[in-house]
Amino acid sequence: MNFLTGSLLVVNFFLFSAFSYFAFESYREQEVRATKIGIIGAVCIILLGVLILIPQMKITVLFFFAAGIIFFLSLLIPAKPNKKALKGAKGYLVGKPQRFDERDSIFARHRSLISGTKQYSTFYNEIYPEKEEHDAKRRQSGILGISGSIDNEYQPNVAMMHASFSMPMLLGQQACNDPDPDAPIANLSPEKATLIVKNLARHIGADLVGITKVDPDLIYSNQGEIHYGAKDWGREIKNLPPYAVVMITEMNYGHVISAPHTPTVAESAHLYAKGAYLSTLLGKWFSYMGYRGIAEHSRNYDIPLPPLAADAGLGEVGRQGYLIAPKFGARVRIFAVLTDMPLIPDKPISLGVEKFCKSCKKCADSCPSKSIPQGEKVIYNGFAKWKLDEESCFDYWSKVGTDCSICMAICPFSRPNTFLHRFVGLFVAKSKIAQILFPHIDNFLYGKKWRPKTVVPWLNYQRNKNKTEIY
Ligand code: SF4
Ligand code: SF4
Repeated sequence: MNFLTGSLLVVNFFLFSAFSYFAFESYREQEVRATKIGIIGAVCIILLGVLILIPQMKITVLFFFAAGIIFFLSLLIPAKPNKKALKGAKGYLVGKPQRFDERDSIFARHRSLISGTKQYSTFYNEIYPEKEEHDAKRRQSGILGISGSIDNEYQPNVAMMHASFSMPMLLGQQACNDPDPDAPIANLSPEKATLIVKNLARHIGADLVGITKVDPDLIYSNQGEIHYGAKDWGREIKNLPPYAVVMITEMNYGHVISAPHTPTVAESAHLYAKGAYLSTLLGKWFSYMGYRGIAEHSRNYDIPLPPLAADAGLGEVGRQGYLIAPKFGARVRIFAVLTDMPLIPDKPISLGVEKFCKSCKKCADSCPSKSIPQGEKVIYNGFAKWKLDEESCFDYWSKVGTDCSICMAICPFSRPNTFLHRFVGLFVAKSKIAQILFPHIDNFLYGKKWRPKTVVPWLNYQRNKNKTEIY
């Protein structure tokens, strides 16, 4: 065997291992199409190995290898950094910024506008008369309709959802913490304070932590959610602390693959409970350090969290409106604590999401209510963004009795945090060719259509046969 044949066989063995590994990981992820492609690829590589040993076929084999090497080298052409993403939310400011009024959010309208109250007549008579009829229907059916109806209201998962949702409600009253009157103001340098805060947040359960200065243009203009009394409805939101510690928790992949079935909503609710705990605890920690600490979780929002997280260097916002974070993609929930304690802000990052989303569109194609735009970004409140149709999205939630999450589950960035997907993610973040080609390769390998996958037995649910065809 000469040197050339030996080298080709070594490369061939490496390629065989790569295809086999891909097939193995895809099988574990229940990706049937990708598993088949991985196996076919591995078999083709074995055949190529046989051809290497036939002297007359050497030119053909060399041609294949040369094509492969050229493709691999092309992936090393670096992408220009996305300057907009590197500026965080402000990078997408294209007009005069206008703060979002929380009173207009679906949750606030649904929960805070009770017929016969002053806020009800103010909102529907003076601000948005056109929303009254549809909101009244939604209020009648409930935001999730009949909880878990897509799974015949499978009690263990629905009970998990309700149990978890009750936690932020209990903790919400503890969200706003002034400095403890008995606590001296901690004498820490911003560097030391940042080191402690980030490690503390990770220690108590956050998966990723970032820090940013709060952009006043992102803060809600007026309070719309009134969980603990009507007096705050419409209150102008101001005088917030200037720093935000933003925390991310990973949604379990084994739950998310069931979207839009009940294991997903049980996991969303679980993380809302966890986030309420994390942010409240950290908020109280700031109070005992002599500073304000305002927990931002599902029972106390002063600011939308995806752009805040982007500012804190925790990811980019994707087409479907979720934050896409390193390691976990869209499978995350975000929480924050606002504080006066001087901290060192992180810098926003670019993961190649904007370019990838431009050609991917998998979430938009799979959304059962067609709520995710297929086209370009539009200007909303002065910022360029892919604008989700929340009304139709929430209408779908009430049909299935869960928070759907198909767009989270199908996103290529949301795949498990394994070596394979981290490796691919690295190229998407840094390589020009990968940002253009990988969305198409992803569609070829994994398909474009969403199908829920099998969950572990303890989460298993019974499908409601009348509803399984609505995704
Ligand atoms: S599914 Fe595709 S288009 Fe949608 S957010 Fe994820 S990467 Fe972007
Ligand atoms: S949650 Fe479901 S209905 Fe809503 S945008 Fe995502 S895929 Fe569409």
